[in-house]
Amino acid sequence: MEMIGHGGKPLVEQVITDKDQARKVIKDLKTMPVSRQMATEAIGIAYGFFSPIEGFMKKADVEATCKKMELADGTVWSIPIVYDISDQEIADYKIQQGDKILLTYDGNPLAIFDIEEIYTYDKEGMAQDVYGTKEEKHPGVKRTYAYKDKFLGGKITLVNEPKIREPFTSYFLTPRQHRELFTKKGWQRIVAHQTRNVPHSGHEWLMKHAYIAAHGDLPVEQQETLEGRAISGVLVNCIVGEKRTGDYIDEAIVLCQDELRKSGYFRNDIHMVTMTFWDMRYAGPREAVHHAIIRTNLGLTHHMFGRDHAGVGTYYHSYQAHHLLMSIPKEKLNITPIYVLEWAYCPHCGEVTCVGLCGHHKELQKFSGTKIRSIIMDEVKPTRLIFRPEVFDVVMECSKKYGFGSPFVTTQYLEQAKPAFSIEPL
Ligand SMILES: [Zn+2]
Repeated sequence: MEMIGHGGKPLVEQVITDKDQARKVIKDLKTMPVSRQMATEAIGIAYGFFSPIEGFMKKADVEATCKKMELADGTVWSIPIVYDISDQEIADYKIQQGDKILLTYDGNPLAIFDIEEIYTYDKEGMAQDVYGTKEEKHPGVKRTYAYKDKFLGGKITLVNEPKIREPFTSYFLTPRQHRELFTKKGWQRIVAHQTRNVPHSGHEWLMKHAYIAAHGDLPVEQQETLEGRAISGVLVNCIVGEKRTGDYIDEAIVLCQDELRKSGYFRNDIHMVTMTFWDMRYAGPREAVHHAIIRTNLGLTHHMFGRDHAGVGTYYHSYQAHHLLMSIPKEKLNITPIYVLEWAYCPHCGEVTCVGLCGHHKELQKFSGTKIRSIIMDEVKPTRLIFRPEVFDVVMECSKKYGFGSPFVTTQYLEQAKPAFSIEPL
């Protein structure tokens, strides 16, 4: 069955799964090692997370992305997916336009890269267009400035699939596998919750809000109440990639999100957790569009966007991402955004409520990341209205098992934690 991805084009899937065939096609190719960053993106491209792009972007696509937020053919696209390289490396690996190169990771074959174009691009201009700033303290700008002086564009074909380590193994699904599972579950409406967080009750309510909004227009007979008959679901899609100290460790994010289902806060048949490899760029509104594109490719119908989606510091207004999404014509982005306000705890109502819903605005206690963090650091179980006790237990387990004693990324974690995937000998 042909699957359609973002832009109404067939879902990209460029993977040679037959190992004998893979060994044969890479036999005489020149090789070039890649960083984790580039390996992650090559894997994302080949599985179709970034459909319709089939490889690292060529100059015309990068230019259109920066200037018009679309690919050269007019498909909406917000963040350049580029392969940077130095002149020295081009000379060392004898790379020429028209070559087929075997990219290797950890010394093992990863993907074939068809070098269709070698080009330069103004990095300051790219930063300004994508991030709206040239300030190097913005992490996305910093990443852009760190690019080497040339770029390679061309198609990527995965020849050796990544091995996902525990505890992530069952949470990594390709876009095709996501869609097959949704069909099996009978889900017709699926809303994405993008996350890099361990969930507190505020997050839980954002998901409940989005779930209800995604299917609230259906007749009640279809809003099935019997377990096993749901036609709508929430997909928590965790972003796993480059970490900064102070972030939650990936293991805690994925396992704690899933604990909400395991402990029954969401029924088994309406909630599911998966992960996507992606290094956050913190591009705020443009990154929100990118997330919408990825989730379209996963086969989702709706996407929740909350306050300051994918932002950093004070670079973007709280709801700037909403405004950018609203400016895109419906036919150009085939996923329905669900815009949500914050949820907070109201001591007067004695419950978690949507900000602006009850009349006790002076008493509302907003969920602050810093406050939740200090609660977790103190290891004192918070009230279940704020933080689910089962989730709290999983945070503590992850801290011991994977975080060297902390659920937050430390220098030790950065140096010693194993990457979520490896590439084994072919
Ligand atoms: Zn209230």
